[in-house]
Amino acid sequence: MKLILLGAPGAGKGTQAEILAKMLGIPTISTGNILRAAMKNGTPVGLKAKEYVESGRLVPDEVIIGIIRERLAEPDCAGGYILDGVPRTIPQAQAMEDGGIDIDCALSIEVADQTIIDRMSGRRTCPDCGASFHVVANPPKTEGVCDNCGAALTIRKDDAPETVRARLVTYHAETEPLKEFYAKRGKLVSVDNQPGIAETTQVIVKALGL
Ligand code: AMP
Repeated sequence: MKLILLGAPGAGKGTQAEILAKMLGIPTISTGNILRAAMKNGTPVGLKAKEYVESGRLVPDEVIIGIIRERLAEPDCAGGYILDGVPRTIPQAQAMEDGGIDIDCALSIEVADQTIIDRMSGRRTCPDCGASFHVVANPPKTEGVCDNCGAALTIRKDDAPETVRARLVTYHAETEPLKEFYAKRGKLVSVDNQPGIAETTQVIVKALGL
């Protein structure tokens, strides 16, 4: 299964990607997580990406295309993958297609903007392993501590309400047109976000026929 997850920031792509990845035994590739790790390690890509990521703007397409080409060439991607947060623009999708990167399905998780704004204030992220939690919907076992690796959870700088609003504007302008791009290729499947994580997984599993 080669799957793209589409949806606004905070739609639950990362959470659902992790669940589906375990279910299907394939890796999740999140460009957001790759960029945050690069920023933390001070690599050249990280230094280039920092100002964009922290202000909620999209990192230039050529940086993302380079990252994704390199990552998808790794052996663990041979049996399929879930792309979380990429492609995010038509040029990225076009470059992937032109580069022979195969996609079976683009799954769009539909959520109202106001739900996103309310939800993002509760998100907590692990700076070490990239895992994502929510204080109400998906709390860690111990408050403020990552279940996977034990690191102290943080609030992402770009989850501040003003930045979330800017990211939503970018989403509607730059990323939403991808729905039409994949619909034209007969690859778009849309589901509505549900009140709980497990219910959303259920509608996804049904929509994908898993
Ligand atoms: P995410 O964790 O997917 O919400 O991504 C966090 C931030 O990383 C975004 O707001 C962008 O600044 C940057 N980013 C992640 N993926 C992409 C992408 N495919 N294209 C451009 N920028 C990206």
